[in-house]
Amino acid sequence: MRLAARVLAAALCLSVIGTLPAKAVGLLRDPDIEHALNTIASPILNAAGLGARVKVLVVNDQSLNAFVVDADHIFIHAGLLARLENARQLQSVIAHEAAHISNGHIARRMTNARTARTSAGLGLALAAAAAASGAGGAAAGIAIGTQSSAQRVLFAHTRAEEASADQAGVRYMVNAGINPDGAVEVIDIFRGQEALSVSRQDPYTRTHPLSQDRFRALQGFAAAYGGQAWPDSGAADYWFARAQGKLTAFTRAPSWTLRRAKSSATDDIRLMREAVAYHRQPDVKKAVATIDKLASARPKDPYVQELRGQILLESRNFPAAANAYGAAVSLSPKDPLILGGYGRALLALDTADGNKRALAALEKARSLDPYSSGVLRDLGMAYAKAGQNGMASLVTAERYALTGRLKDAALHAKRAEGLLPRGSAPWQRAQDVLTAAKAAPK
Ligand SMILES: [Zn+2]
Repeated sequence: MRLAARVLAAALCLSVIGTLPAKAVGLLRDPDIEHALNTIASPILNAAGLGARVKVLVVNDQSLNAFVVDADHIFIHAGLLARLENARQLQSVIAHEAAHISNGHIARRMTNARTARTSAGLGLALAAAAAASGAGGAAAGIAIGTQSSAQRVLFAHTRAEEASADQAGVRYMVNAGINPDGAVEVIDIFRGQEALSVSRQDPYTRTHPLSQDRFRALQGFAAAYGGQAWPDSGAADYWFARAQGKLTAFTRAPSWTLRRAKSSATDDIRLMREAVAYHRQPDVKKAVATIDKLASARPKDPYVQELRGQILLESRNFPAAANAYGAAVSLSPKDPLILGGYGRALLALDTADGNKRALAALEKARSLDPYSSGVLRDLGMAYAKAGQNGMASLVTAERYALTGRLKDAALHAKRAEGLLPRGSAPWQRAQDVLTAAKAAPK
């Protein structure tokens, strides 16, 4: 059984600009996990003065890293999320990255003219790519991923930046009422790595250079608040356990998950992990029975309905999947990932009415999150089925542009341009893709 359909739905392709070998960064998009991470991050982001603008996203990579490439997203590797032990540790990682944003460590690197021009046109995906390409001329090293030595260090921060991010990160935690010992615990995971050869270090050590001085200074910042009583972290701990439980259920072997599910923090987290493990075995009967049990225990939980929809959809029970996703949408009408799943299930019904409703759901998903290549692929299919070939070509062009295949993007945009009413909003979008394709260095 493959992973969740949406795993790898978005790819930030670093080959766009062409100065580095291709290395796609897959994002693991899950509405439940993203909701959990953003709930955990929210008090920290408020303390950092960033608020709800910043989203925390999971990179589908088992190595340990966290990084920022723009002012609106904090990326955390799946491997790091699985490795951390509690909410406050994750909050310290987020606080440190938030400090890199707040203290202007990113803005400085984004002033590169080429970077600015490209990222203004196509947003996040190209921003990451452009940031990567900027490394060639700029002081910053680069690397999402570990295969190529040329790509090793993504935005390697300076020691001065690390010191200021550590200090500000601890301050955000304290202001948010979170025990800053989490920061010391996290740095302890990477301790001693500065002595290892680069190939043996975790990427985190390369993006955020470590030193004994840094460790000692951080201990000092945290110790200043020693002995203080901290508010109960129950809600954050619940969401941390749930995000980690769901992530590992989708990335580790089902047998691994089933052995550990009984020691889950709560019964509902146990049921969720078991449902995913059975689904991936695959044991459809047990998976459906388990997710149904969870749904009756948490009837108002949109993410449980969403997981139910996914399990039913991937088990090819399309009408039941559409119903489950429909229930999830009515519980959380503005979640683009849930809407995307609903659209996919409706599309799978393969009826004229289903297709019409799929178009509406997918268009709404796209308007809320234009960077999901999965939604754009489904939308292309829905438009083609409806006989709207201009729109089908447009969203296909946008999907290629998003994943960095600008030549293919231009081909489909050209076709869309010829089919769409001149001067209309969709026609203008086709122009944007053509402009971006022309502007990209060959
Ligand atoms: Zn750092």
